[in-house]
Amino acid sequence: MTDTLAPVRPGRLIINGEAVDAASGRTFTTTNPATEAPICDVAEAGPEDVDRAVAAARAAFDTGPWPKMKPSERQRLLWKLGELVEKNADEIARLETLDNGKPLFESRQVDVPMVVNTFQYFAGWATKLAGETLPVHPAFFTYTLREPLGVIGAIIPWNFPMIMAGWKCAPALAAGNTVVLKPAELTPLTAIRIGELALEAGLPPGVLNVLPGKGSIAGEAMVKHAGIDKISFTGSTDVGKRIMRTAADTMKKLTLELGGKSPNIVFADADLDAALRGATAGIFYGKGEVCAAGSRLLVESSIYDEFVAKLADRAKKMAPADPLDPKTRLGALVSRDQMDKVLGYVDIGRKEGARVVAGGERAPVNGKGWFVQATVLDGVDNAMRVAQEEIFGPVLAVIRFDGVDEAVKLANAVDYGLAAGVWTQNVKKAHSVSRRLQAGTVWVNMYNFYDAGMPFGGTKQSGFGRDLGPECLRDVTQAKSVWISVE
Ligand code: NAP
Ligand code: MG
Repeated sequence: MTDTLAPVRPGRLIINGEAVDAASGRTFTTTNPATEAPICDVAEAGPEDVDRAVAAARAAFDTGPWPKMKPSERQRLLWKLGELVEKNADEIARLETLDNGKPLFESRQVDVPMVVNTFQYFAGWATKLAGETLPVHPAFFTYTLREPLGVIGAIIPWNFPMIMAGWKCAPALAAGNTVVLKPAELTPLTAIRIGELALEAGLPPGVLNVLPGKGSIAGEAMVKHAGIDKISFTGSTDVGKRIMRTAADTMKKLTLELGGKSPNIVFADADLDAALRGATAGIFYGKGEVCAAGSRLLVESSIYDEFVAKLADRAKKMAPADPLDPKTRLGALVSRDQMDKVLGYVDIGRKEGARVVAGGERAPVNGKGWFVQATVLDGVDNAMRVAQEEIFGPVLAVIRFDGVDEAVKLANAVDYGLAAGVWTQNVKKAHSVSRRLQAGTVWVNMYNFYDAGMPFGGTKQSGFGRDLGPECLRDVTQAKSVWISVE
C-alpha cells in the first residue's frame, strides 16, 4: 500500500461536549477493507450511553442555548464547521478511505466537498426558516411558527459515512434541533471526527452527540428511546421496516432513506459515448455500494449488442486497486460479508441464466482485501433476482427493451423507487419518461449527481421523507398555528 498507515487515534463517544469511553468500557476494532488490517479500537456505545447522550441532547434542546440562539449565530457556527472540515480535508478523506475502502480520489474530490457544501448550504437556511401569516378572519391575527422537532436520532450506513453524517446533521442543526448520531459499526471514524470538529467550531455541549456502536444495541435503544423525537435513517429496507414498527410505540417521526434497484435507461437516440460513461459511473462509482446506483441497465434492442460489448470492454479495464493511490477508481468492498454477498449474487445470476461478460471474481490487491472486479451480467430478465434485489456492489444487470412503453414498464417493475437515469437526445422523451418513472430522483443524460440544494429520497419501498434541499427542512421542523383575537 502507498500509505505509511500512521496510527489513527482510538475512537471515543462524543457525549455532552466530551470524548468519553463507553459506560461498559467495551470497544470494537474497525478494519481497513483493502488490507484486512485493524485501524484502531473504538468505544462501543450501549444502552447506558444512549441514555447519557439523549439526556445531553434533551438538555441542550430544552434548556441549552442552541434553539434560543440567534439564527445568525447558528448560521455562523455551522458555516465554521464546514470550514473546519475543509481545513482538515486530507486527514478526513484518508480516514474515510481507510475505514470504508473507497478510492481516495472519491473521498477527497467528492465526499469531503459534499460535506462542506452541506454544512454551508444549511448554515444559510438557519436564518431563512420562517412561518407564515395566514389571513383567516379580520378579527384574528393568525400565523404559523416553524419550530424544531427536538432531539433527532440519526442512524447512518457505511457506504457514505461522512456524507450521511452531513446530510442528517446539517439541516437538523440549522433548524435548531439537537442530534444523536450513530454511525455504522463498520465505518465510525469520520463521524467521530466531524463530532470533534463541531466542538472546535463552537457548537455547545450536547448539540451533536456521536455514538459509534452496533445497530442491534445502540441503534435499537435509540429507536425505542422516549427522549428522541424523530429518527432519520439511511440503510437497508429490512432495517427500515423494523425501525418503523418499533418507532410506533413512542410515535416517533421518521425519515427513511432505504435501498434501491435503480434503472438506467439507454435509448437508441442517446449520445452513446456519454451513455457508456454514465452507465459505467452509474454502477462502479462507490464500488456500487451506492443506494442510488444505476444497477439495472435497460438498453434499447437496436443498439444492445454493440453497447454491451463496449460496456464489457470498459468494465474489464477498471481493475480494483489500492484505494490510497490517487489514480485508483475502484476500491475494496466494505467487509468480507459484503464481498461474499456480492459474489453470491454473481453465482445466483449465472444460475438464473445471465452471462458474465466482464469480471465476476474476487480480485485481491497485493494478496489482500475485499476487492471484487467490475462485473457486467448480460441477458438478464427483469424477473430474475439479480434484477429485483439490491446487490450493493460493482455488479450491473443488463436488460433489453423495445420502445418507450416497455422501458417505463420494466423500469417501474420493482419494489424500489429511489432513482433512475434516462439517456436520450429527444427532449420530449426526456421529459415524458421522467414524469412516468416511479423514483425520487431522475437524472437525464447524467447519473449520480448530488447537491445539498436538491432533495434526495425515495418512493415505494425506498422509503419516504427527503434529505437535502429546501424540502428536507419540512422534515426537521413542525408548524405551530397561533390564533390571536385582535378585536
Ligand atoms: P443496515 O443494517 O440497514 O445498517 C444501517 C444502519 O442501521 C447502521 O448504522 C446499522 O448499525 C443500523 N442498524 C442495524 N440494525 C438496526 C436496528 N435494529 N435498529 C436500529 N439501527 C440499526 O445496512 P447495512 O448492514 O449497513 O447494509 C446491509 C444492506 O443494506 C446492504 O447490503 C445494502 O443492500 C443496504 N444498504 C443500503 C443503503 C442505502 O443508502 N440505501 C446504505 C447501506 C446499506 P450497524 O452498523 O451496527 O449494523
Ligand atoms: Mg472499517
